[in-house]
Amino acid sequence: MQLPSPIHQVSYRGFNFFLKRDDLIDPFVSGNKWRKLKYIIQKAQQQNSTQLVTFGGAYSNHLLATAAAAAKHRLKASAFVRGEMVNNELLMLCKLFGMQLHFVDRNAYMDKQLLFDQHYSNANAYFINEGGASEEAVLGCSEIISELQEPFDHIFCAAGTGTTAAGLLRGINQSQLHTRLHVVPVLKPGEFIQDEIAAYEKNTNCLNLHCDYHFGGYAKTNPQLIQFIKDFTAQTGILLDPIYTGKMCYAIIDLIEKGILSGSDKILAIHTGGLFGIFGKKDEFDKF
Ligand SMILES: *Cc1c(COP(=O)(O)O)cnc(C)c1O
Repeated sequence: MQLPSPIHQVSYRGFNFFLKRDDLIDPFVSGNKWRKLKYIIQKAQQQNSTQLVTFGGAYSNHLLATAAAAAKHRLKASAFVRGEMVNNELLMLCKLFGMQLHFVDRNAYMDKQLLFDQHYSNANAYFINEGGASEEAVLGCSEIISELQEPFDHIFCAAGTGTTAAGLLRGINQSQLHTRLHVVPVLKPGEFIQDEIAAYEKNTNCLNLHCDYHFGGYAKTNPQLIQFIKDFTAQTGILLDPIYTGKMCYAIIDLIEKGILSGSDKILAIHTGGLFGIFGKKDEFDKF
């Protein structure tokens, strides 16, 4: 466990910014998923739960993080996986950590509470929502801000559910920092994230959304994004994932290039991990 996570200076084709390497916290409970699970697991243990039950797609970083964290805490773990039965590198690791997988079709997946009640009502099981979205997760992510030793003008993160962004916003508000939070939604359309964030943290004065960097939608890529990730990795030695952090870093460079952000401002990006997402895009990386 590497905490507080280190901050590395990145110099990429003349653009300079800082990366908070939450991807280095743990290889499997990586990035924001470690932050999100910290207080979820604490609460589950306080309630004497012996099993974590959660939900995700076949390449969900949250599933792997939950599987690895559960094993470390001697808890059982199960997950409902959206879609038909498949095997891949990520699910293989989930199983290695002892997670039990149930594949459910997209319709059944919609009612998560029902799935939980049907299968785990008698067990001493703890319900964890998809992606870990919860108040506990917001609290965990707000601690990213408490770890900062110096001020930044801008902080960037990618957003799926917006929980991590809400935690960062809470940290910024609580510490009364003069920092703008820039959120890059990876879904199309991404505007809904504003309300998701506000549901956890009302004061959104310092929030900026950048909704034009979804590259077609969740888990969608294009040759430009793949090329950017390849080039960035080769130039900096820092791996990005194609679902979240690749889109965030692309946005940062693009916003500086367009003059919307000043390259002389101090910019911190949160590397939220998720590097196994690369294996879900093998064909795309091979092609270009
Ligand atoms: C899950 C994930 C996110 C999204 O976090 P939210 O709190 O759901 O917005 C961002 N980056 C990576 C690498 C992730 O795995």
